[in-house]
Amino acid sequence: KKKIAIMTSGGDSPGMNAAVRACVRMAIHMGCDAYCVYEGYEGLVQGGDFIRQMDWHDVRGWLSEGGTLIGTARCMAFFERAGRLTAAKNMILHGIDALIICGGDGSLTGADRFRAEWPSLLEELVRKKELMADQVELYKHLNIVGLVGSIDNDLSGTDATIGCYSALARVCYAVDLIEATASSHSRAFVIEVMGRHCGWLALMAGVATGADFIFIPEKPREDNWREEMCGIVHQHRKRGKRKTIVIIAEGALDKEGNKITAEMVKDLLADKQGLGLDTRVTTLGHVQRGGTAVAYDRMLGTLQGVEAVKAVLEAAPETPTCFIAITENKIARKPLMQAVQDTKEVAKAIERQDFQMAMSLRDAEFEE
Ligand code: ADP
Repeated sequence: KKKIAIMTSGGDSPGMNAAVRACVRMAIHMGCDAYCVYEGYEGLVQGGDFIRQMDWHDVRGWLSEGGTLIGTARCMAFFERAGRLTAAKNMILHGIDALIICGGDGSLTGADRFRAEWPSLLEELVRKKELMADQVELYKHLNIVGLVGSIDNDLSGTDATIGCYSALARVCYAVDLIEATASSHSRAFVIEVMGRHCGWLALMAGVATGADFIFIPEKPREDNWREEMCGIVHQHRKRGKRKTIVIIAEGALDKEGNKITAEMVKDLLADKQGLGLDTRVTTLGHVQRGGTAVAYDRMLGTLQGVEAVKAVLEAAPETPTCFIAITENKIARKPLMQAVQDTKEVAKAIERQDFQMAMSLRDAEFEE
């Protein structure tokens, strides 16, 4: 009987539980034993009780839970071969030879590395007499499939990552709440959202809330960003707008690669020589990750979890590690490392010219 393990790794995201639930139930449906590895790679390295067999009923009610119920962690040991060696041993001790990982590009890169190293890890375990040759005989290949769990929507090759629409909904909700008070007091708010390298959340929140101005890492601002922003805000105010919303991703930069911070933007809006607006900074922080998944992420986690089990059962040793994507509303298998490579080369948010256009629907762009 095939034994498939599922784990979540890296930053948590809403919808991970839906994915785990789907993997567990689909594995059982396919006649396999389902396992969960608790606490990400840390659980794989620790072994023992961190690796638990799951029953159909064990994941009941998980669809509507936020975060990840099987825990996640960053694990330094897994960066080292010694840690991966222990992880391989623990997997074989539990009889597991197929692994589904739901995480970000870091976790999935680690997974690909683990799979590539697998035969040599087994050799080493036998050589060191930690496992017997007949024990490893059945585990020549490790099948691994990735699911992308991330609130940032930061992987190329897929339209959405599990969790990004929940985070976006939360950001928009927060902006709506802030707008009411901003209007009342005629204030400006600089809202910092997550996204160190990927500005998808900031860009889409900007579109969805009609923000006055946004800053994202993919579009480093020109030297004149101060004049540009103040010009637009000034236009809006002149036309009677009583609130100013600027959305800034954590990783916002200027053309020289210098960080643009929420405080810098605030000081500028508040500058008595300029706009002189009563300005506050709101950092949304982990509110963006919290709470239950929106319907889309539950659906995505479920459909992709089902596909991940099929893929892990069908994976062949010679094919590159795959991950489960959604493109044009279809669930698809794609080569993982190609997507990781593409992510480094293209800035996902910037590919979306149509959304750039949507940001131009601000009052300031309107010629009377
Ligand atoms: P994310 O998956 O959200 O991108 P991280 O980049 O922090 O998060 O990765 C999560 C964990 O995955 C790390 O703590 C580490 O255990 C493992 N990992 C990441 N990159 C690698 C790698 N290149 N080799 C081995 N393990 C890795």
